[in-house]
Amino acid sequence: MKIIMAAAECAPFAKAGGLADVMGALPKELSRLGHEIMVVVPKYSLIAAEYNAEFVLKESVEFSFKGQQKTFGVFQYDQAGVEFLFVENDSYFKRDQIYGQPDDAERYAFFNRAVLEIVQREQQPPDVVHVHDWHTAAIPFLLKEDPRYASVQAVKTILTIHNLQFQGKFSKQTFLENFEMEEHYYDEGIVSWKGNFNALKTGISYVDKVTTVSPTYRNEILTEFYGEKLHTLLQEKEQDLIGILNGIDTGVYNPATDLAIEREFDVMNLEEKQVNKRAVQLKAGLPERGDVPLLTMISRLAGQKGIDVLQEVLPALLAEQEVQFVLLGSGEEKYEQFFKGLAADFPTKVYVHVGFDEAFAHLLYAGADIFLMPSHFEPCGLSQLISMRYGTVPVANKTGGLKDTVIEYDESLKSGNGFLSDFQQDEPYDVALNRCLSFYQQPEHWEAIKKNGMEGDYSWSRSAAEYAKLYERLI
Ligand code: ADP
Repeated sequence: MKIIMAAAECAPFAKAGGLADVMGALPKELSRLGHEIMVVVPKYSLIAAEYNAEFVLKESVEFSFKGQQKTFGVFQYDQAGVEFLFVENDSYFKRDQIYGQPDDAERYAFFNRAVLEIVQREQQPPDVVHVHDWHTAAIPFLLKEDPRYASVQAVKTILTIHNLQFQGKFSKQTFLENFEMEEHYYDEGIVSWKGNFNALKTGISYVDKVTTVSPTYRNEILTEFYGEKLHTLLQEKEQDLIGILNGIDTGVYNPATDLAIEREFDVMNLEEKQVNKRAVQLKAGLPERGDVPLLTMISRLAGQKGIDVLQEVLPALLAEQEVQFVLLGSGEEKYEQFFKGLAADFPTKVYVHVGFDEAFAHLLYAGADIFLMPSHFEPCGLSQLISMRYGTVPVANKTGGLKDTVIEYDESLKSGNGFLSDFQQDEPYDVALNRCLSFYQQPEHWEAIKKNGMEGDYSWSRSAAEYAKLYERLI
């Protein structure tokens, strides 16, 4: 099958979170299964020079956008059987951040149109166009309704929701200007939802199948609590809504070969993990002690991630127990301030690095003992999977993909790979965390938990096959 995917992020080129990890791994796995895969991404100026230097200009495309002649370059980069195509337009993508620009609506509308121009120019049209999150969710609508793309109207479409919270809501005027489509699409509620143009809603309505990134999150988003005000629409689409669990790129995240960590290790020589712990402590300026549990969190600092829970739990824990905590993250100012304050209050126990740092993230996954993930909701979550791969034990809240991947440790069976709180059932996070810490003091159990995590299969092979089956059913 020939599949064209489009997304706003793709590792290792441009990454803000888990979406990039998925785009960096799933296409390669689909290619390995024998399919022809193209991935279209904006060519942000923040893409590292080492990749940029390898990009080859394939073509330059002229088209009309917002009533003006515009041009974009299509740069090609082939890797692991996948053709990555980067859409270059300096006025939209020469920015030092991926998101959060005042003209995001226009930037991604431009990108949507560029993707469609690419699809239409293919000599052999794709079997499926597979889009991801709100940034590309208007593509299926334009594909079906915009007369400029009538020649590819019959192509099947899939939308994967990586996070329902981000929907791409904009004004009616913004819709009319950016897409040059008739007003009735807005007025009749075809692209609008509760008083706004809503890109994600538009995609959900138009695609042949909607997928999301774990079976539990798939069920959750049909409810009012998790549905982000789209649950009634999703309920209508229930038959076409499928949950497929994400995997991780086990080549990129491999403690036995990872060059970003201090000392490689695997399940047979787990004691080497300690070398990484000391490297973290050294870098963090914390006492180099093997016997003190090292807790970490690597995350976007957003409400979703349950930072409020840590605000309640961490100060007392740090005051009362011998633990260390290292945070790597960036996001909302109030959370950054909280963590900085914590580091000031507990200078010998806490280190905070505000920012995005891929290499430090790898070292932390390798060096920490315990990974904190008290998310209020979590579509899939990749951090817990990466942690387990590096023998770092997750303490997570039982929601979404965390529920599907973290299994509570059972002392009698020595089964399970982590510890779970359950906010819905009034099982607080500090209880789960203390349960985890009690096992840290019991080496026999601690070894078993780490090993269970490391031996789990988090590869993409099973999930990629599920996507392939879905494409097949569609065409
Ligand atoms: P989300 O997509 O909601 O941000 P996920 O757990 O699915 O959460 O994926 C997060 C990804 O981003 C992981 O690969 C994680 O290691 C990475 N990440 C998050 N914050 C940082 C950071 N500050 N520095 C480096 N990597 C980060």
